Order: sequence, then structure tokens, then C-alpha cells
Amino acid sequence: MYWAKAIAEQIIQRNPHKEEYVCAAGISPSGSIHIGNFRDVATSFFVAKALREQGKKARLLFSWDEYDRLRRVPVNVAKIAPQLEQYIGCPYVDVPNPFDDGAKNYARHFEQEFEQAITAFGIELDYRYQADMHRQGCYGQYMIQALKERGRIFDILSGFRTQEPKAGEREAYYPVSIYCPSCGKDTTGISWLSEDCRQATYTCNCGHSGTIDFSKDFYCKLSWKVDWAMRWRYEGVDFEPGGKDHASPSGSYQTSKIISKEIFGYDAPLFTGYEFIGIKGATGKMSGSSGLNLTPQTLLKLYQPEVILWLYAKTDPLKAFDFCFDEGILRQYFEFDKQYLEFLNNTPNEFTHTVMENCLIEGRQIEPVPMGLLVQLGSIVDFNIEMLETVFAKIGQPYTHAQFKDRLERARYWLSQCSPQSVNRLRSKRNWPVYESLDEAGRKEISLLHAYLAQGGYSLDELQTALYAIVQQANVETLDIKAQKARQGIFFRNVYQLLLDKEQGPRLYLFLYAIEKSQYLDLLDFSTPPTEDELAVKPPSAQLEPAQKTKEYGPPDTVAPIKDQIDLEYFNQLDLRVCRVVKCAEIRKSHSNLKLTLFDGLGEREIVSSIKGEYEPQELIGKKIIVLTNLRPTRLTGVNSHGMLLAGTNNACGCQVIFVDDIVPEGTQIK
Ligand SMILES: [Zn+2]
Repeated sequence: MYWAKAIAEQIIQRNPHKEEYVCAAGISPSGSIHIGNFRDVATSFFVAKALREQGKKARLLFSWDEYDRLRRVPVNVAKIAPQLEQYIGCPYVDVPNPFDDGAKNYARHFEQEFEQAITAFGIELDYRYQADMHRQGCYGQYMIQALKERGRIFDILSGFRTQEPKAGEREAYYPVSIYCPSCGKDTTGISWLSEDCRQATYTCNCGHSGTIDFSKDFYCKLSWKVDWAMRWRYEGVDFEPGGKDHASPSGSYQTSKIISKEIFGYDAPLFTGYEFIGIKGATGKMSGSSGLNLTPQTLLKLYQPEVILWLYAKTDPLKAFDFCFDEGILRQYFEFDKQYLEFLNNTPNEFTHTVMENCLIEGRQIEPVPMGLLVQLGSIVDFNIEMLETVFAKIGQPYTHAQFKDRLERARYWLSQCSPQSVNRLRSKRNWPVYESLDEAGRKEISLLHAYLAQGGYSLDELQTALYAIVQQANVETLDIKAQKARQGIFFRNVYQLLLDKEQGPRLYLFLYAIEKSQYLDLLDFSTPPTEDELAVKPPSAQLEPAQKTKEYGPPDTVAPIKDQIDLEYFNQLDLRVCRVVKCAEIRKSHSNLKLTLFDGLGEREIVSSIKGEYEPQELIGKKIIVLTNLRPTRLTGVNSHGMLLAGTNNACGCQVIFVDDIVPEGTQIK
């Protein structure tokens, strides 16, 4: 059953006749709200939807915990407003707004930022601003109730602690903190409490002391676990998710659950502790991003809101998933489009159907223009809209600007911020050093290509065929299929180098067909001698391009004879499994080895592998590989290696690791 539906059914079962169910979420506006916290909203949102699908009324309550105390100033805020340090201990809502956006206070700034992002998702929230709730006196009677029950509350709390309470601790405990009317901070201590718990005297660290009447003075707040339970009771909450740290047996939820029942006589809502969100492939300008500082706003620059919701909707809250800054994002769009088209064609399975219904946003039309293609073609024509429409038409997929508009900016942003190495730029001059390094057949291929293109009059299909024919034509001696394939690859690489200064590029026939021929034809014409301009270009400039691997390899090894036969039983003893590379680092003083930290499906392990000559550590992170995991550990260059990765080693290619498609889960056995 779909996870949100299962939760909805439990909610109904607990309380079948309730008129309206309340799904809650809540966040402190302590800084920018990140996408990890967004799971609070998303989880409750899907559960509320599932309740409505069952014919029930459901409300999605969102609590801004803005009456909580400022604990610390976030690093990025402290940089522009170090003076905020002095407000530590004040409620967020009383801290001045250091940003120039007109928000009336610190809390409001971050609240607005998040509320604006939320509207993009079409999620309607019933906001509760906790400072207003407190100051209007909504919770006054509960303060008095909690104070009356303070001994029992203390016992519940200390039941979760490992340490025995000290003498007098119980008597000195008050589950209420008072914000000092003089300095605004919660650095106060209660010195006397009336028998009926309505009045108290207190002293603040600032020197101020006074009397508070809890029935009419509302500058006070219950301590966290009591406050949470009290608000469940106040709002009649039926469901609330929370980070998995709250879900542990000694976590906040378990404590608040007992307080809710025993002190406020209310059965705690159902609770789901969700997993955190990961970020994959954050390099370059995105490095340093994690689920902890990535806001929905930033994510919306890369992902359409539907795709974000889809990721949350299709993943059980108990499971983690990643937002991808690398090419993984293109796969996610691809997968989304596939399911979306199934949905449109009425062919999805029940799960896909529910997920799609959950993530489509009213009033917005999704056009499944392939993101990968948009990136590829966009990079070819530098995101010129008119050219893009022309190219799409030429390749028989005539998408219009209206259709690809919503994804275009995201494609461009991804390419420039996350994958700048994929941007294609035509050279301005012929690349003589590369041309001169070509053998005779190589030069002939370029000349044939130039002649073919110059003549024109070809269709896209014809051009594609011609690219293969040229290689055959240029190589006089008959090549076997394998040699011809290799030759073909070299030809494409030569053209990319001559046009783009890259060894790889977009599909060549598409590229040559899509861009204006006059922009590149001259780059393939070496019939005239180099100009002075071209001679002035120093050859090393091309080599300054980073991360282009141009390793020279030798001829292939002699193919080894097949080894002696073994029984299947023997093979089955090998524990070969798919592992994900979590970390990868160089080992000091080792010329050939890298240290890889792997997730093998059960836990993490370290292995050492002599692949330093072939890979940069960051190339491997996030990749899935095959590892012999039950190999007896050995010590290599000072590091214990718990397994061996599979790779193909040959003089013709060096040591090439065998990668596994991302779809295969970690821990999958190879058999
Ligand atoms: Zn004070």
C-alpha cells in the first residue's frame, strides 16, 4: 500500500468519527529553511491528501516556532550581522531583521522566504504563528496546568535520563521559562510560586526581578517537550512527522507522548520519523551544499516543483533519497517524464498513479520535454530560443518555446553551475596542433567531412550515415569490425577537438546539423596554410584546459587462455556485491593507491585500490562498483583493505573500474 495511504488508514482507525483530521508540521525560523526540513511539510501534505481521498476532511497545520529562543546566530547571518549575538536568549520574533527586505523581524524574514517557496508547490498551509498564539494568551491555562503538574512532568522527563536526579532538583524544576520584560531574554529563574500556580516571582540575570500572573501575562513559554505535547492537545493533532532524531526510543516524541497523555489527557498523534535528504554530486560552485543549507528556492532553480514533490512522494519517509547536482538530475527528470506519460496515457500502476496525483500542481501544465536533450541542444546553440525551436524541429521533435520554457532556465542553470565542463564552445581558429598530429587517414577523414558538409543538401539521417561512410572511405585497407569501430571513435574525437577543444561532445551528427554551418565549416578546412593569427596561438594553451585526460596507452595485452574449470559452488563462495563509493581519498606517500570508503548495503568498509593513475578521487564518489567483500583483509600502504574492487586491467587501457548502473541497489549480489 502507498505509504501515505497506510498512515491515513491508521489515523482513521484510531478515531473513525472525527469530523476533521489535523496533520501538523512545524519549523523554527532559526535561519533559512532547508530542504531536509521541507520533508516535514511534504510528509504531512501527502498524508492529508490521502485522508481526503478517503472522503475525510483534513487540515494541514503549519506551526512557525518563532517564540523559541535564539540559540545561536547562523554562520552566514553572523557574517553580515555579528551584532545579533546580543539577542541570544530572546524569541526569534523579537530579534531585529538584519536583511534589507522589509520583514518586520528576524523570524519573519525566514518565514517569508519559505512561505514564498511553498506557494510554488501549490501547498496550502494553515499557518500558526506561535508568538501571536502565546501573546494572545491561547496557552495561558496550560501554563498553569503544567506548573501544577510540575512534579509529575519532572518524573516523566527524568525517566528518560540515565542520571539520577540530584537532591532538590525536582523541587526546583519549573516547566515554564519567562522572557524578561526588561532585557527580553529567557535568562530568568522562578524564585516563588503561589499555591494555585497563577503567580510567580522571578529574577533575571540582567538584574531585573518581578512578578508574573500566568493568567494574564503571556511573556512565558513551556519547555520544549511539554510545549509540543500541549500544542497537540490544543490543536487536536492526529499526525505529525519529525526528523528521525526525534523518533528514537529516548527521543522527544516518546517523552512528549507520555506528557500528552498523562498531563494533558490527550492521545499523542501518530508520528513518523523521516530520514534526512542527501545531496549528490555537489562540485564546483555547488560544493559545500548539503541538505543542511540547501533551500527550496535554490532547488527550484534546478528542479521543477512537480519533480521535487515527486521525489518526496515516491519515497517512503523512512528512506533517504538524494537531490542531484550531477547528471543524476537528468535521470530523475527522465524517470519523472516516463511516469508522467504513463499517467497521461492511463497506463500507470496504482503506485505510480498515486504518486503522480500527489505531485502534479493545479494550474500548472507539465511538458515532458526531455531535460537531457534540452541540456544537450541548449548547450549547442547557447540557449538561443529561436535556434532551439529550429533544432527541435530538425530532429523531428518540434517542441515550442511555450513547451520548453519552464525547463529551459533550469537546464541552463544546471549546465552553468553544476556541469560547466559540458558547455560547448566553438573554437574561433583552426586547431593546427591537433590537425598536424593526425595520421594520413585522419587528415583524409577531415577533408572528406569538410567536402561533404560544404556541398550540403543532406538530411539529418543522411548526415549520420555519411559520418560512418567517411571513415570507411578514408581507410583504404579493409578493417575488421572492431578496428573500424575504434577508428570511428578516433574520428569523432578528432572532430570534437578541432571544433570544440574537447575529446567528447554532443552527438556529432546532431551537432553538425543543428548549428549554423558557417560558424564551423572553416574550422575543418585545412587546405590553406595557417594564418599568422593561428601561428601566434601557443599550442600549450589547449593543454591548460583542466581535467582533460589525455593519457597514452600502449598496444593491448596478449589475450590469456581460458582458465581451468571450476564448480558453481566454488563461485558461489565469492561474495561479490554492489557497493557505492561514499568517500575516496589519496593515501599519503602512495603513488598508486587510493583509499575508498564504501557502503556495501549493510555498513561502511574501507578498501585500498591501485587506481590512482587512472582516477581522480572525486570522479569515483557516488559511483557504484563491484567488490569482492569476503576477501581476507590485508594491509596495503598502511591502510587495512577490506575487499577488492573489480576492474579490467590491460596495457591498452590501464586499470578501468567496472561501474554498475545507479539503479542497482547497494548490497546486490553479483551472481
Ligand atoms: Zn532581563
